[in-house]
Amino acid sequence: MDEISDNDFKEFVKTVQDLALRAYPNPDRADCPNSQIIHEVAGQSRPSAHPVFQSHIVHCSPCIGDVLAERTRIQSKQKNRRRMLLATAAGVCVLALISVLYLRHRASAPSGNEIARAGAVPEIPIDLSPYSPTRSDAAQKTRPPITVPNERLRLKLTLALGAPEGPYDIRILTDQLQAVRNQQATAVLKDGITSIPAEVDLGGLRPGRYTLALRLNRDGEEWQTVPMVLKPAP
Ligand SMILES: [Zn+2]
Repeated sequence: MDEISDNDFKEFVKTVQDLALRAYPNPDRADCPNSQIIHEVAGQSRPSAHPVFQSHIVHCSPCIGDVLAERTRIQSKQKNRRRMLLATAAGVCVLALISVLYLRHRASAPSGNEIARAGAVPEIPIDLSPYSPTRSDAAQKTRPPITVPNERLRLKLTLALGAPEGPYDIRILTDQLQAVRNQQATAVLKDGITSIPAEVDLGGLRPGRYTLALRLNRDGEEWQTVPMVLKPAP
């Protein structure tokens, strides 16, 4: 016997259905169950197991038609519900992914407070290399003073080429050479440039002429001095 292909089998089922739909005409719908029962039968995994199917439907073409139509309707509804569930699950996954990315972004990015705090303390880059003591005194004296506001500052002091890394003493001296600030900061070498990041609070100092003095914190190191003018903070 030749094998039956899927298409052949579907064709066969359709033929039997067509036969069943015409074999038992019941134009007056005598003894037909109501739509509630039809729905119940159509919703079962094996409709033929339902008692009403056995007692009536199997002998009534209009009812067989109703059950087939109802079953098709239920199945397409289930397909839609599955599709909606899948879409919902996909949406939940996307939301979860977004929140993970957002939390990771929050963790790496500074918080609003940190930005506000960092923003409140301006960073001022100051190039001290022109004031290097290795230059002639004459050249050094003609350098204009650096000007900074009298408030809390983050200074980035760039030192002369070849200046060593390490701890530095930083002092702010009045024009009477009285130290009004005295602190330490560490110079770091990056890309061949030595610089000192230093947070200095100049708040409360009168505007005017001062001297910024710094030296490597090591025996025998000379102070390097830079004229500095404090202007009133905006
Ligand atoms: Zn019927």
